[in-house]
Amino acid sequence: MTDLHQLTIHEAQDMLRRGDISSVELTQSVLDRALAVDNDVRAYICLLPEEALAQAEAADRRRAAGDDTPLLGIPLAIKDVICIQGVTTTCGSRILENFVPPFDATIVARLRAAGAVFLGKTNTDEFAMGSSTEYSAFFTTGNPWDLERVPGGSSGGSAAAVVAGEALGAFGTDTGGSVRQPAAMCGVVGLKPTYGRVSRYGLVAHGSSLDQIGPLTRDVEDAAILLGSIAGHDRMDSTSLNVAVPDYVREMKTGDGLKGMRVGVPKEYFTEGIEPGVETAVRAALDLMADLGAELIEVSLPHTEYAIPIYYLIATAEASSNLARYDGVRYGLRVDAPDMWQTYYDTRQAGFGPEVKRRIMLGTYGLSAGYYDAYYLKAQQARTLLRRDFERVWEQVDVMACPTSPTTAFKIGQKVDDPLQMYLSDVFTVSLNLVGMCGISIPCGFSDGMPVGLQLMGPALGESIILRAAHAYEQATEWHKRRPNLTERMF
Ligand code: GLN
Repeated sequence: MTDLHQLTIHEAQDMLRRGDISSVELTQSVLDRALAVDNDVRAYICLLPEEALAQAEAADRRRAAGDDTPLLGIPLAIKDVICIQGVTTTCGSRILENFVPPFDATIVARLRAAGAVFLGKTNTDEFAMGSSTEYSAFFTTGNPWDLERVPGGSSGGSAAAVVAGEALGAFGTDTGGSVRQPAAMCGVVGLKPTYGRVSRYGLVAHGSSLDQIGPLTRDVEDAAILLGSIAGHDRMDSTSLNVAVPDYVREMKTGDGLKGMRVGVPKEYFTEGIEPGVETAVRAALDLMADLGAELIEVSLPHTEYAIPIYYLIATAEASSNLARYDGVRYGLRVDAPDMWQTYYDTRQAGFGPEVKRRIMLGTYGLSAGYYDAYYLKAQQARTLLRRDFERVWEQVDVMACPTSPTTAFKIGQKVDDPLQMYLSDVFTVSLNLVGMCGISIPCGFSDGMPVGLQLMGPALGESIILRAAHAYEQATEWHKRRPNLTERMF
């Protein structure tokens, strides 16, 4: 049984329950795989082999004692912006290079209680600001389908780990697309929950009105399992919704799949800038959904062209405020200088990379007296118009379908010096964060050997319906079963 690392979570659950395998065997297989390929892929900032094996042993003991919680003994990876007690949480930044959180994020505490095994922390653009992992202060992750290309970002490490066999599933964060876009570029499933569905306590803040934690997995059922295990109210996060968590797996499988479902196709998401190979794959996916009984309806989201400017005003404003806490006093890096102000300056100068500095400056500018009305306030007003676009469309359709990203994974270095080009990778994902609704990206084909993602968007708390649509499509296709060829090299 050498390929345990390629199992889906639900396959592994069945085998663990039947006693065919132990969590120690499963975890060892995934760790061996990570050791054999991660010198090339570089998905992990830190791998925790001893801790993971100890957790796997504990899970096997719990199972022997009759415990059968869903994630018992399942090895998962966590993006390095989410706190695990006692494990360095860098956020891909020099300023937190040595920060060891004294507590678990709520999602980590929930996963831990469910018996999950933590393999390590995955690479990210610094403070989750980016679309390629190239803005990580440490290194760039390679796309397992072509190591010269980016895996997308900012949760690129998590997406790469899942498709490369280095974790059965992983968690990322999505402020403007950072779960869905890397999922699309690596050929895995990525789900961004409704704002407030998942607690953000213990997630290092980027844009507080936008951030959500979401799963990256090998198929849709696994996404439903992981979402169900982290969702729900948390008194430590006042923005978390006090709404019961459904059984997503069951709701996904009830009903008639896509039959009779009204699927909106937003015309503004099929315009210039979209690569022909991406458009072809997504159009073919729409045709298949129609064959499976969906009713395709063209819809319009007229304020789409403003989504990128609105997002980059609001996200940078919130980031500039959230990142004020890195001052060399409370935690993280400190560069000592003769006085307090100089200590702040020197610490932040040394600790933050260029993209983070760019955003702090942009955000501070947009919020400053004299400019606030013209930029931040205008962006908030336009955000309301965007939300109304979506609310009108939900009167006509159940879900919307469109590309996740206008391009497949680009070459490392291609966009790193051109922030505007980098920002445009998010044109199809940022709107959902701005309106607080949910979305999922699933594999729907390849273009020149690189994966293409189909995005399904749903209304607030519409996770069950997008999962049902995604699952029905996935059942009729094989795209999610393809795996990249990676050479295993032992070091
Ligand atoms: N790429 C977008 C940004 O740079 C989104 C990032 C994210 O979702 N964390 O802000």
